[in-house]
Amino acid sequence: MTISAQPVSYRQSAKLQHVRYDVRGPNLVEAQRMEAEGHKVLRLNIGNTAPFGFEAPEAIVQDMVTSLPDAQGYSDSRGIHSARKAVQQYYQSHGILDLDIDHIFIGNGVSELITLVLQALVDDGDEILIPAPDYPLWTGAVSLSGGRAVHYACDEGSGWNPDPEDIRSRITPRTKALVVINPNNPTGAVYSEETLRALVQIAAEHRLILLTDEIYEKIVFDGAQHRHLAALAGDDVLTLTFSGLSKAYRVCGYRSGWLAITGPVQRAENLIEGITLLSNMRMCANVPGQYAIQAALGGYQSIDALVAEGGRLREQRDFAYRQLNEIPGVSCNQAAGALYLFPRLDPEMYPITDDAAWALGLLREKKVLVSHGTGFNWPHADHFRLVTLPSVDVLDDAIGRIAEYLEDLRAR
Ligand code: PLP
Repeated sequence: MTISAQPVSYRQSAKLQHVRYDVRGPNLVEAQRMEAEGHKVLRLNIGNTAPFGFEAPEAIVQDMVTSLPDAQGYSDSRGIHSARKAVQQYYQSHGILDLDIDHIFIGNGVSELITLVLQALVDDGDEILIPAPDYPLWTGAVSLSGGRAVHYACDEGSGWNPDPEDIRSRITPRTKALVVINPNNPTGAVYSEETLRALVQIAAEHRLILLTDEIYEKIVFDGAQHRHLAALAGDDVLTLTFSGLSKAYRVCGYRSGWLAITGPVQRAENLIEGITLLSNMRMCANVPGQYAIQAALGGYQSIDALVAEGGRLREQRDFAYRQLNEIPGVSCNQAAGALYLFPRLDPEMYPITDDAAWALGLLREKKVLVSHGTGFNWPHADHFRLVTLPSVDVLDDAIGRIAEYLEDLRAR
């Protein structure tokens, strides 16, 4: 064997240059390092339900176990029939009647489908409108596909609602799609029908595709109503709805999500062919996870009890909201949905210039891991996100430590 004398360094592709995903970034690596050294870190950073004692409904687990012997082979790339049928019927029962089973794709979680769809849709230089703050996979996946993520403002002062005028002002001839995350991660906003209609109107006027991430659709509090964007968009606007089992059914690890394409699908044949091609190339989603879908969608919705008055998710959210707002210089909107709070740190009291470093300091000094706001493409270093999944005792401890850390900063 002849070996070249030239030393080589193995480098990632230039495509990754602008791809970021801080939710699992360097601060998590540092937390893991600290844990390996024997420190106990309070992790309030990721919406992973199982480690916080939120068990999946028994019927779902049982169906998955029972199906294991039959789930050894690849399935149809779009997914097993019973899962896609269940998704179709679910949407039909929510007013989305015109959904062809061939336009439903099952994926390894919503994450895979988001990346797959953006690869199929986006040409170099295309612009995709994404909320700020966002769930950062959306921005990362747009960058990976060669597109440009253009962030539109959501207004904290009005319940983190998207600002339609701001969206309009950012539309250019290169704008291809409008991303909506509802209920929203990280803000917890649940958009009203009026807001959603305004978004549909913008998409209709500018021939934009709606990409709607509704993974938290069943996690809504205090009577907030989640409306499916696809039901409002009807036949007028091509709408790609993403949802799945990770959150409401507490099976993040099963990696089971879906994509449903509705609206003027006859004009989207080429795009759907592209999605099908990429879907074929990854063979299929994890088949046992697909078997969980019918059991989940068809049966008793145990999440309802967790979000209702007295339910654990609601109690924890209320507790964290109260405690955070008691810290000097911290203000926080109440979340109408999802699993997070996104508090603001008064910039006059806490003149933070690098919020990742701020979060790292919190981790090192107080052993609490949260996610910094700029990691959600929020443009200012004045917010952070915490998950409301831990028990009240753990939240009390963690928020107490955050308060101490902020007090220390004020005293410095
Ligand atoms: N979309 C949003 C808004 C999320 O918050 C998450 C996970 O936290 C995902 C998508 C990914 O979900 P999945 O587990 O289905 O890949």
